[in-house]
Amino acid sequence: MATIQFQDLSFTEQNGRVRADFLQYFHFFLSPDELARIGKYRVERHALHFSASPQRAERKLNSLLVQAFQGLESKYTKKQAVYVHQHSGIPLIGSGAFGIIDRGTNVIEVKPITGCNLFCIYCSVDQSRREKDFIVEKDYLVQELGKVIAFKGISPIEIHIASQGEPTFYQPLPGLIRDVAAFPQVKIISIDTNGTLLSNEKVDELVAAGLTRFNLSINAFTDATARRIAGTHYNIRRIKELAQYILDRADLIIAPVYLPGINEQDIEEIIAFYLSLSGTHQKDIGIQNFLWYKYGANPIKAASLDDFYAFLRRLEEKYQLKLIKSAADYHIIKARELPKPFSTGDIIQAEIISPGRFSWEQLACSQGRVISVRDGKQESGTVSLKIVRSKHNIFFGVPV
Ligand code: SF4
Repeated sequence: MATIQFQDLSFTEQNGRVRADFLQYFHFFLSPDELARIGKYRVERHALHFSASPQRAERKLNSLLVQAFQGLESKYTKKQAVYVHQHSGIPLIGSGAFGIIDRGTNVIEVKPITGCNLFCIYCSVDQSRREKDFIVEKDYLVQELGKVIAFKGISPIEIHIASQGEPTFYQPLPGLIRDVAAFPQVKIISIDTNGTLLSNEKVDELVAAGLTRFNLSINAFTDATARRIAGTHYNIRRIKELAQYILDRADLIIAPVYLPGINEQDIEEIIAFYLSLSGTHQKDIGIQNFLWYKYGANPIKAASLDDFYAFLRRLEEKYQLKLIKSAADYHIIKARELPKPFSTGDIIQAEIISPGRFSWEQLACSQGRVISVRDGKQESGTVSLKIVRSKHNIFFGVPV
């Protein structure tokens, strides 16, 4: 008799299939016929029992799980998801969607997950254009992040958790923060969040793990505008309570996006709300300009930089508040950047390793980097690619 236990998987029998829930927000199914081929089996919440030798059960189940993970699906987005783990062969440097991004400063971006529970009309990573989600194994992320931190050779370092989506959707987030906080060079751990999945208890848990700052997006102050911008139900009263709760426990940046013609008045109310907040930690407000992205949701024409700054200067005068910020205001300093193994224009050989987020995208790997391949025809094997983008080690390539 073999018993195989799991921490991150929980099993239930459902309509003749065995459902495996993974890290709370993902699931896949195991075929009862395939399980029965291993031996007579019994399902428990965090274990599978087989009437087979432990070696046989483990070997057969492992290969069954590798197959079944191909059908991983996100509960929120209902999209197929790719699990990026130590043995997946997918590097964590090179993609703008997941992994680690070093832009040559003391701030390292960490992207553990994609996908969101909101559908913001201005979203730069418009989910309706993306077919797949990604989730990264926590220990793999921490291990690779450690290498980047060591390479940078400076302190203080800020780790900025900023997903193509909502990072609180990443179930191992407290563990990730705890592991990241253990690097002595890391003095700030910040997160971009829409706040909608945060309870007071969750805030406490993240702060106890080592999170030092929440960047909370608040874009509107009336229910109707908030709902219009979020593209779904959005409880602004709850988000306001949350902002006050956070400020008594961690630093807080309120981060609205300026959408000309949609939320000018709301931004004034957000400033008034920001001024009314008081707590034991530092508060700040960082108004961002809506930017047009090729694969973003683009509901309006972006304000020019001149118009955006004129808007901010008017508000600065009215509220006697600094709203035009520079990198120095956020203690961002230049720091050596990871070397790029190839540059724009280079022709390289790479291995196709995974589908990408878009229908036209595949991921390839070469020299420890991921390359997003546009319109590739091969589904596996070696390809010749021309690198068409290489800034900050985020690579795009086209087949040649
Ligand atoms: S909360 Fe952020 S990631 Fe989610 S839809 Fe809105 S802008 Fe996009």
